[in-house]
Amino acid sequence: MNHDVLFWMNMFWVVLCAAAFGSFANVLIYRLPRMLLGEENSSRDKNTFNIAVPASFCPQCQHAIQWWLNIPLLSFIYLRGQCAYCHQPIPMRYFLVELGTVLWALLSVFWFGLTWQALSSFVFFYVLWVASWIDALYFLLPDVLNYVLLGIGLVVAMAFAHNGVGAALVDALSGAALGYVILWIPYFAYLKWRGLEGLGLGDCKLLASIGCWQGMVAVPNVLLFACVLALIFGVLVAFLRHHSVRTLKIPFGPFISAGAVIQMVLMHSHFKLFV
Ligand SMILES: [Zn+2]
Repeated sequence: MNHDVLFWMNMFWVVLCAAAFGSFANVLIYRLPRMLLGEENSSRDKNTFNIAVPASFCPQCQHAIQWWLNIPLLSFIYLRGQCAYCHQPIPMRYFLVELGTVLWALLSVFWFGLTWQALSSFVFFYVLWVASWIDALYFLLPDVLNYVLLGIGLVVAMAFAHNGVGAALVDALSGAALGYVILWIPYFAYLKWRGLEGLGLGDCKLLASIGCWQGMVAVPNVLLFACVLALIFGVLVAFLRHHSVRTLKIPFGPFISAGAVIQMVLMHSHFKLFV
């Protein structure tokens, strides 16, 4: 078969699968926090939710969504960001979550081709992506996502040591340990000093999981990127909302994840900063 045709067919399947995963990411972002926390203003949530049941519905009018109105990316455009039944706006988030998932899948294939490395690069981003949205919306980093990331990171370390994605096993284990400790120390100090949780243990577990994927040397970089981004974001938000930076509460998970993504892009983009 013609190689160009084959290439575009493969890309078609990559985009299709990634879009489906993006759609599922929206399900996780909506349901996982409700399953873990329950929701005060809706008695149905805690008992009637799990990941698979009930079928997709509009959060505003509770109307079940037919499959042809639930196609990733396309339905949002077709419906112009409105529910087909109650015409309430659908948050832009749904579209962005799917779009980000598809773009990262394409980037992974661009880096690694259609390989297991590309798949693990995709999985790494996917878990960070879902965790970041949940943390941004609910100030919650679910343990289940951290443990999944850590577990898959260990498997990838054993499978692909020194092969593009993932660290060698010893590096993965020391990276996980360093990732945890490097955030746990300020967490503990702040708790003793101010009696407050400035960071969450979820942040420590997240950086540990990232350390397991990227190795020990990457951990300080990821943390530095995260701190700089969080600082810029905090100052901007404080300025725009006329709020004090000192008392501003921002979730750290999305910034740790962004730091890991920057680290990954720097590791795998073969451009030279200094020629
Ligand atoms: Zn509706």
